[in-house]
Amino acid sequence: MAKTAYLFDPVYMEHRTEWGHPERPERLAAIDELLRKQPYFTELVRVEKMIPDIKYIEMIHDPDYIARAKREIEGGDSYFDSMDTSVCARSYEVALYAVGGCLNMCDCIMKGRARYGFCAVRPPGHHAERNYAAGFCIFNNVAISARYVQEKYGIERVAIVDWDVHHGNGTQHSFEGDESIYYMSLHQYPYYPGTGSDSEKGFGSGKGYTLNLPMRMGSGDEEYIQAFEDFIIPELEQFEPQIIFISAGFDAHANDPLSAIDLGSDTFYKFTKLLQDVARSYADNRIIAVLEGGYDLEALADSVERVIQAFVEE
Ligand SMILES: [Zn+2]
Repeated sequence: MAKTAYLFDPVYMEHRTEWGHPERPERLAAIDELLRKQPYFTELVRVEKMIPDIKYIEMIHDPDYIARAKREIEGGDSYFDSMDTSVCARSYEVALYAVGGCLNMCDCIMKGRARYGFCAVRPPGHHAERNYAAGFCIFNNVAISARYVQEKYGIERVAIVDWDVHHGNGTQHSFEGDESIYYMSLHQYPYYPGTGSDSEKGFGSGKGYTLNLPMRMGSGDEEYIQAFEDFIIPELEQFEPQIIFISAGFDAHANDPLSAIDLGSDTFYKFTKLLQDVARSYADNRIIAVLEGGYDLEALADSVERVIQAFVEE
């Protein structure tokens, strides 16, 4: 069994969104409950939540934005920046814990305590921009983690594979001028947030290090696996990443209420296997998956379990 690390803490459920909001605390409960029933659960390396040093968040977000997030959210606002980013008074601190937990996971993987990691955190991150919150996201957990492993461990090439059904505008915008972090996304298109056309390929020295694979509504397992095999994997092999982050959203699942893409849970297992092959060749096996979307509780839990199954059975 390959050493696999798991980050979850009840504090991540203290970020409460308005009634009827799809990004709700029950998502994490569903995941944790299903994982607890698995024979491998007690073997998972547990990673703790943490309040991070703000300097790491400032690698991606403006100090003014961070201060404004604290002030407005803790001041009692019911949403932050965008109407869809519903918050409660605890949400700022919980968002800090989400970032900090992911940084702890980075340490765990970089120090070789586990090969693979899964971060069951919320709020999610990939829509969060340098200066504003959007799409249920406050701080960009994956983008901050990518910079962190460069800063702390001298990693030169980081790949981020974003299979959430939405385009990760915030992550792309963080790195589109940077050749050291290759952002790749498959997403329903045209769709929220509107970015992610295949003509967006990065600029300056980052040109060619942004890859967008827009998927038509109604696309399913076959189209997605083919996009992985024809584009994602060859690009990764050429880039030779030293670590792979997955922006692991599960809203492309057929049962998800927010999308018109039809993936089965097993397809996330297959994606993971394909990425493990790359990580074995170039990245000393290092893969960290961070939860983004996924709003049908059963499909979400099942799909996360398939990813962790792929990790542990390696
Ligand atoms: Zn999404």
